[in-house]
Amino acid sequence: MSHTTLENLFRFPKVPEFAQKNFTEHFLHADKVMLVLIVMQWVIATFITSISYGTYLYGFVGGGLITLVLLLAYRTFKGTQVMRALVGVGMMLFSLIYIQQHLGRIEMHFHVFIALAILSLYKDIVPIFVAAITTILHHGVFNFLQLSEVSLFGMPVMVFNYGCGMDIVILHGIFVVAEALVIGYIVKLQIEYGVELNRSENQVLGLNEELSFTSLHDSLTGLPNRHNLYTQLRLMVANANRYDRKFAVLFLDLDHFKNINDTLGHNVGDALLKAVARKLKSIIRENDIVARIGGDEFIIILNDFTDTGAIEPVISKILDMFHKEWNIQNHFLRLSTSIGVAIYPDDSKEINELMKYADIAMYKAKTEGRDQFSFFTATLNAKVHEEVDIANDMHRAFNANEFELYYQPKIHIESGKIIGAEALIRWNHYEKGLIPPDHFIHIAENTGFILKLGKWVIEETVRAIKRLSESGYEDIHISCNVSTRQFQNINLYADIENAVHDSGIDAKLLAIEITESVMLEYLEVTLEVLKKIKNLGVHICMDDFGTGYSSLSYLRHFPIDSLKIDKSFVDDITHNSTNEHILLNTIIAMGQTLNLKVVAEGVEEMYQMEYLRDRGCEFYQGYYFSKPIPEKFFFDLLLKNCASSGTDRDLI
Ligand code: C2E
Ligand code: MG
Ligand code: MG
Repeated sequence: MSHTTLENLFRFPKVPEFAQKNFTEHFLHADKVMLVLIVMQWVIATFITSISYGTYLYGFVGGGLITLVLLLAYRTFKGTQVMRALVGVGMMLFSLIYIQQHLGRIEMHFHVFIALAILSLYKDIVPIFVAAITTILHHGVFNFLQLSEVSLFGMPVMVFNYGCGMDIVILHGIFVVAEALVIGYIVKLQIEYGVELNRSENQVLGLNEELSFTSLHDSLTGLPNRHNLYTQLRLMVANANRYDRKFAVLFLDLDHFKNINDTLGHNVGDALLKAVARKLKSIIRENDIVARIGGDEFIIILNDFTDTGAIEPVISKILDMFHKEWNIQNHFLRLSTSIGVAIYPDDSKEINELMKYADIAMYKAKTEGRDQFSFFTATLNAKVHEEVDIANDMHRAFNANEFELYYQPKIHIESGKIIGAEALIRWNHYEKGLIPPDHFIHIAENTGFILKLGKWVIEETVRAIKRLSESGYEDIHISCNVSTRQFQNINLYADIENAVHDSGIDAKLLAIEITESVMLEYLEVTLEVLKKIKNLGVHICMDDFGTGYSSLSYLRHFPIDSLKIDKSFVDDITHNSTNEHILLNTIIAMGQTLNLKVVAEGVEEMYQMEYLRDRGCEFYQGYYFSKPIPEKFFFDLLLKNCASSGTDRDLI
């Protein structure tokens, strides 16, 4: 046996805290069992053991005394070590009673051993040692009383019915200690096993707890997840119904979060989401809820209010909170969020619907310029339903050839010549009549239908160019709009290339118009695709310039041929205005510096055209010259224009 094992043998285990509760329960139970055993011993001492010797009185009174004391002690000490020690004493005093009743004839160690073994029911060494000491002590005391010839109940006090000396007492003491050691060791093993059981049970419990936490919380931010949110919402509905209260579902979506992720990397994005989660948690009240249900989407539930007006300041506070500068891993970021609000029970009494409505309202906040909140309304809902109808109807319309391209001429300001046109899509709905693109392009983008529609636009534009060439207009270029979403399509380049090659047109007669958002999203891939398109000979025009993120560095890096100044700048030019439009002038100058062709769109008045001309803008497009018109009318217009200004055209 090694040293450590030996040491271990005598190191009695302590019950650690996590197992304490279990052990205490066990002790309480054991106390009851012990009391039953004590009462049984009393019955044995009174009747069974007394049959042959007539010592009933001794057994009844002596056993009764022990039993009574223990029953009384139980009331105060149950479950404690004191109770266990007292039970140990009680058990052993019974052996004394048996001896006194002439039963020493039967080897009393049998009783001592059984009693000690029974005491091992307590997973505690103390009662066993107390019992052992009691046994040794009463042997000593009774031996002394016997020698002094003392009588009890008219009987001489006996240690053994045959009488003995101190040597026998000592021998018995040694037996008892040996028994106590053996049983003590068994108890030690029991405790260790019991603690081990508790430890594994505890681990299982801990694991369960951890599991239930992760299944209910978002792993990145630690906020409740969607599943958890719905559970809490169901409780809230019950609560709101009972107390006639309302609650608000706030649907938050961070503005331009994707840009942060794309430009600064996912680490920064994740850190930002965590910071936002912390901040949101810190500003809501205790009985409100904040949850994360997707990428950059958070839900806040504002609880317990009776008047809708009361929540507006809270929402403004949330919007403001985003405006401060965020320092994320040493990047100073500006942030904003769009919030949609739906109220229970005003907007809906159904949780899924409520969430959907809050989402719809959020979408409205986004489309109205972001960084704001919007309440859900029935009109909004109707609009969404209409959009769903449109989305569903587009496929049918496509197959029924209801889409058509209109053409709006582009004019060389100086000469007044038509140098080309922009192809703009129209939907000739069999029932609703002409639907402008503003009503369906964004829906087509959201549903992905734009990929199919956009491909058709490119092909149709190319066909139009071919028809123009075949009619003798070999230098009229046509541009078509390519939506940002189309850059997600890996076939975009192939589609353009095939269209150009299959038709055999000169690639430089085709132009695509893209918006600044193209540059922000999918930066790397987009740049590659654009370069390939440009290498094909196709012109690239930056549409609606000045409304987005107009950054010079973007323009430098992108293979752009022309710049189309957004209509809003042109709108600012008013009649008789002597004001200089600094921004507009700068954009024109910037375009010239970068050697780009500059086109102004939305020119409705002559003075607007003149202003632009005087500042060096070369081309324009607008109602002043012509609205977008069907192909046939465009041909007529070309014919007229050629007659008035010759055929020498500049290409854009
Ligand atoms: P955009 O590319 O900026 O097109 C210019 C829009 O301004 C056109 O509206 C045009 O009709 C309008 N416009 C032109 N001159 C004037 C003017 O003097 N005054 C006013 N008030 N408006 C003028 P439209 O045709 O309704 O198209 C709206 C937008 O829909 C387009 O803006 C473009 O972003 C998108 N779109 C149109 N066709 C297509 C297409 O085939 N594919 C894609 N992806 N988007 C398209
Ligand atoms: Mg355009
Ligand atoms: Mg435009």
